[in-house]
Amino acid sequence: MIRTHWLFGDQLGPVFTAADDGGPPADAPLLMIESRSVFRRRRFHRAKAHLVLSAMRHRAAELGDRVSYVKADSYREGLRKAVGRKPVTVHHPTSRAAAALVTSLGNVTVLPPRGFLVSREEFASWADTHGHGGLRLEQFYRHVRREHDLLMDGGEPAGGRWNLDHDNREPPPQGVRKLGAPAPYRPREDDIDAEVRHDLDRWERAGDVSFVGRDGPRRFPASRREALAALRRFVEYRLAGFGAHEDAMLAADPALSHSLLSAPLNLGLLHPAECVERAEAAWRAGEAPLNSVEGFVRQIAGWREYVWHLYWYFGEEYRRSNALRHTAPLPSWWDELDADAVTARCLSTALRQVRDTGWTHHIPRLMVLGSYALQRGWDPEALTDWFHRSFVDGYDWVMLPNVVGMSQYADGGRMTTKPYTSGGAYIDRMSDLCGDCRYRPDRRVGEDACPFTAGYWSFLHRHRDLLRGNVRTAGPVSGLDRLRDLPELLRQEHDRGDRAP
Ligand code: FAD
Repeated sequence: MIRTHWLFGDQLGPVFTAADDGGPPADAPLLMIESRSVFRRRRFHRAKAHLVLSAMRHRAAELGDRVSYVKADSYREGLRKAVGRKPVTVHHPTSRAAAALVTSLGNVTVLPPRGFLVSREEFASWADTHGHGGLRLEQFYRHVRREHDLLMDGGEPAGGRWNLDHDNREPPPQGVRKLGAPAPYRPREDDIDAEVRHDLDRWERAGDVSFVGRDGPRRFPASRREALAALRRFVEYRLAGFGAHEDAMLAADPALSHSLLSAPLNLGLLHPAECVERAEAAWRAGEAPLNSVEGFVRQIAGWREYVWHLYWYFGEEYRRSNALRHTAPLPSWWDELDADAVTARCLSTALRQVRDTGWTHHIPRLMVLGSYALQRGWDPEALTDWFHRSFVDGYDWVMLPNVVGMSQYADGGRMTTKPYTSGGAYIDRMSDLCGDCRYRPDRRVGEDACPFTAGYWSFLHRHRDLLRGNVRTAGPVSGLDRLRDLPELLRQEHDRGDRAP
């Protein structure tokens, strides 16, 4: 008897129905379950709820009669409705909660995960050999490049260097409001989107679910066809400019040359292999410079794969890591994405981008939003949940290492060698956000003290014993002793409390 194959909402590309390598047979009936309780459990960004539902319904429309699309209160109920106790297969889900659910159901056979370059076994064997002094992205990335023959010339990295990061940290060009990259791909909404919007309105009106953020026209691909068009547009028009200003921020140009591919990648609509292969082909054809292509390949074949494997490797307890003992709750203006309540221009700009689109690039996430929360000692688990709910590309596996480890240093350095935070000078150098701001990046105290500059010193002070012992932070910590205005700065920070800066 052919078993039904179940597709989760982030398993929407062709790789999840391919029969090769132990996948479901080509004629296996398919099942998709739209579970309402997912949206009740968390207060998601509405654009994210829209994107996920739209993408699931687009996939169901493509699959036609082959799929049963079940709307249910929970996965359990949906499965019971669709197949009763009959046996079902599913590719390994991407979250621990979903993995625990499918193994608890009794009638579900779990097939290996799909949608990544590196298998669980390959990562485990790499970590066993290299993990003794602590796992590091750079080593893992070189392993992936070698083993998967990405951007390699024989046994050597193409162009002679593994890492072109130092070419990719340019501030924005002086005096420009926009980088001038060709616009990213924008999908056109269709009847399925109209139906999704209608359903979300109805659920909200009934008080069944509640969302945050704006659900403007959909900005991210919801089908394989749209995802391929977005990839093509990026590689042909935007990849060449990706590298140099990867870390820059411009108020009027949120996307710069970033790919905006995280959402379709995380929905399973694109496979990472096709993204990096097309980027490499563009370099080999002389259509994009190596620093841009290497930077992009590093993000996908390096960071994305690394984060996926660390999620499983670090274990269930990782989500509760709190090495800095940060316990402050998130203030309501933050939770509500109330960008208008914020005066500091960098923070209001980042929060506005999240409110309006559910997306910002990696530097506003790390060096503005994450850094602000770290400096104020906010609870890392609550912050992880906020990122998960508020970003269109947020999923448990990708949020945990990025927020708990990378952004909040809550894992005490398993993921990074030092906490990522800075004063306003970094934001000023890398953006056009400080010029018109009411606060001054070079001021620590007083009416116009930059909340990031004051927050940075206050954070170092709070953790000086820990950070003094880290070679990468010992220097700044010793700088604290030269700050005559430290008591005033600390008083001011205390008085600010959790008010929006
Ligand atoms: P690009 O800059 O064009 O990069 C290309 C691709 O590389 C991305 O699409 C993404 O798939 C991958 N990538 C790059 N960095 C990472 C990373 N650190 N982890 C995983 N993949 C990466 N990414 C998510 O996909 N989902 C998240 O929920 C998420 N949360 C983050 C939270 C914080 C605090 C930080 C610092 C980073 C987070 N990232 C997350 C990583 C990164 O910020 C986004 O992947 C990226 O900004 C998405 O925009 P893009 O597609 O234009 O990326």
